[in-house]
Amino acid sequence: MAKERGLISPEDFAQLQKYMEYTTQKVSDVLKLFEDGEMSKYIQGDAIGYQGFEQFLKIYLEVDQVPHRLCLALFQSFHTGQCLNETEIKAKVVCLSDVSCYFSLLEGGRPEDKLAFTFKLYDTDRNGILDSSEVERIILQMMRMAEYLDWDVSELRPILQNMMKEIDYDGSGSVSLAEWVRAGATTVPLLVLLGMEMTLKDDGQHMWRPKRFPLPVYCNLCELSIGLGKQGLSCNLCKYIVHDHCAMKAQPCEVSTYAKSRKDIGVQSHVWVRGGCESGRCDRCQKKIRTHHSLTGLHCVWCHLEIHDDCLQALGSECDCGLLRDHILPPSSIYPSVLASGQERKQSKANQKIPDDTSMYTFEALRIDPVSNTHPLLVFVNPKSGGKQGQRVLWKFQYMLNPRQVFNLLKDGPEPGLKFFKDVPGCRVLVCGGDGTVGWILETIDKANLPVVPPVAVLPLGTGNDLARCLRWGG
Ligand SMILES: [Zn+2]
Ligand SMILES: [Zn+2]
Ligand SMILES: [Zn+2]
Ligand SMILES: [Zn+2]
Repeated sequence: MAKERGLISPEDFAQLQKYMEYTTQKVSDVLKLFEDGEMSKYIQGDAIGYQGFEQFLKIYLEVDQVPHRLCLALFQSFHTGQCLNETEIKAKVVCLSDVSCYFSLLEGGRPEDKLAFTFKLYDTDRNGILDSSEVERIILQMMRMAEYLDWDVSELRPILQNMMKEIDYDGSGSVSLAEWVRAGATTVPLLVLLGMEMTLKDDGQHMWRPKRFPLPVYCNLCELSIGLGKQGLSCNLCKYIVHDHCAMKAQPCEVSTYAKSRKDIGVQSHVWVRGGCESGRCDRCQKKIRTHHSLTGLHCVWCHLEIHDDCLQALGSECDCGLLRDHILPPSSIYPSVLASGQERKQSKANQKIPDDTSMYTFEALRIDPVSNTHPLLVFVNPKSGGKQGQRVLWKFQYMLNPRQVFNLLKDGPEPGLKFFKDVPGCRVLVCGGDGTVGWILETIDKANLPVVPPVAVLPLGTGNDLARCLRWGG
């Protein structure tokens, strides 16, 4: 696809996300430096040139060198005007207020503000409406994001085109700001697909956790032993095990946490990964799996069955998610909202009133359609509770369930989890933390005005709690 003005590629956006995760700077502080501090030489009025923009990013992201491509792409995205080459674009200026607005919205902001800002960014002729060519550019941007996320793009284009038509409620042929905000807050994952919502973490990254092994294990990458009692890294998702120094060289994680195409929705298949057969016995033929080398055998990352390679043929492909099936959301029951059938989308739209406070209602990129008669668990963990217990419990639940069910309270607070689960029938909440954490969650649930209030269980974390006893919660 041709590189168009005003489009940040999903790769660039992912890179930006990474930087923002680690920076401790706030936009407001950086802005002060530029407005009346040592950086003021870079701005004139509200205009900032390429060099100044680069300085802004360096300070804000706390890096010595911002990758050239990222810097240029971002700068270009703030520049309204015709398509220019690199030398031409570097001679231009952008508005500091746009730049600071963009980053402060990424830091967190009300959805309606984010929507208003994206509207302004895509309304390139600044006439207050999005005409058909501007809408076409938005669709293009969303397709690129979807492609990057590995969604089935062939299914998507007609759906997105249709949605953009539906956004134009009054049928005027163009989209007004009011129509845009209304759609983005209720029915269309605009913010996600336009890169203004950081919540949709993509698959492909291993979730490494440090681990000591009670039995001799072998590195899935270099196949050498990770000595007894030595520490290695284990992926919470695919259960790969590697030496610390091998992690960098590992292939991307192949386990998906959600369905990316309509054909993957509904029925879950086993997801077999080599090695990791800790029990040493085959769940099909009951014979021993040679344990002296941990890379023999296969295990399913969802039901945790362990089998011989030779026993694979004899097993069906369908995975029932094993002992924890009542609590698990398998990937087949989570999928991009835009892939829901048109019928379903219309229904959910009809059911939805426009709330005064859109913060709890912003359209989710992914939706949940749980296996019938199960009780998916929504887990909140405060990793700081109970000394090191909290972090261990977080890892444990990410391992046992789908990591998309498990929320780190220190990172995101309770809202994203509650929003994601608000329409899930039969769901249950588990809070892992101290008294303060529990109070916080209960209060948030109370305020959220959920259609059905889910039952809440508590796994108390604190000094003096017997973790093993507590973990038997719910069988
Ligand atoms: Zn992995
Ligand atoms: Zn290794
Ligand atoms: Zn399985
Ligand atoms: Zn076997």
